[in-house]
Amino acid sequence: MTQHFAVFGQPIQHSLSPYIHGEFAKQCKIDMDYRAIEASPADFATAMAAFAAAGGRGANITLPHKEAAYALCKEVSEYAFHAGAVNTLIRQGDAWLGDNTDGIGLVRDLTERERLDLRGRRCLMLGAGGAARGVAPALLEAGIAELVIVNRTPERADTLADILGEPDRVKTRYWEDLGNQGSFELVVNSTSAGRLGGKLELPFSLLAPRALAVDLSYGEVAIGFLAWARAGGCDHAVDGLGMLVEQAAESFLRWHGVRPQTQEVYEALRASDPLLQTGD
Ligand code: NDP
Repeated sequence: MTQHFAVFGQPIQHSLSPYIHGEFAKQCKIDMDYRAIEASPADFATAMAAFAAAGGRGANITLPHKEAAYALCKEVSEYAFHAGAVNTLIRQGDAWLGDNTDGIGLVRDLTERERLDLRGRRCLMLGAGGAARGVAPALLEAGIAELVIVNRTPERADTLADILGEPDRVKTRYWEDLGNQGSFELVVNSTSAGRLGGKLELPFSLLAPRALAVDLSYGEVAIGFLAWARAGGCDHAVDGLGMLVEQAAESFLRWHGVRPQTQEVYEALRASDPLLQTGD
């Protein structure tokens, strides 16, 4: 019997998730369909209820619904709890179990695909939204030495630091003071500034020699940050495409109990669009 899955977001028409999960299903010989469903914040809970009533087995959740999805869950994983946000829903009986695979997806992309060692790095996180909440616990778990969070709205950075609960390793700073923070071996852009047409003004002094810079976005949105990183002498400038594929594989694993191979799908996506050739 065909199993039903979907990704919910707004906007959602350009989502790569239906393609990625379709390829995983073919590879693993699993009979499933996976649709992109557009829902406004006001309609999200109703759309999820209709999807469950129609037999939906699981869903991915993207902007702007990750926190609303958390609120729909009867139970959440530790990753989702720390993130306060859910990107993966798993139907269990008549309830949703929530998980967050963004962080593990990023760490797998950096450590396994890019073969980078995150341990001991001083890390700057730009942004404190849903994506930052998802990836910060996984970066700490991967062994970074220190995490400095800077957000346009400083209160959100403080909230994230409080949730992470590691005052010795996690600190917040004001955006205006970025120039006085020394240099970092890992700089993660988790802002949506590029998506909204904005540009981040960042000093090159943030980049330690041979630093790694990561933009969680991909395509056109990531071009500005990655260009800044390369101009500043970064050894690696990585976009979020690999993370996207890896977080999808983690969701797939939770739904079907099997982890798909990701490299072929990743390479196919890179080759499919010149704008997706921005990362390393
Ligand atoms: P949110 O809306 O939850 O957060 C957006 C963040 O960007 C906030 O910290 C916000 O600051 C900040 N921001 C927005 N505009 C500016 C600006 N002009 N200058 C400085 N900061 C700004 O979005 P998400 O966290 O969910 O997503 C962020 C990005 O990560 C998106 O581009 C998304 O596509 C990408 N992403 C990629 C994934 C992947 O698999 N590769 C997975 C998840 C997300 P403030 O709090 O002040 O508003």
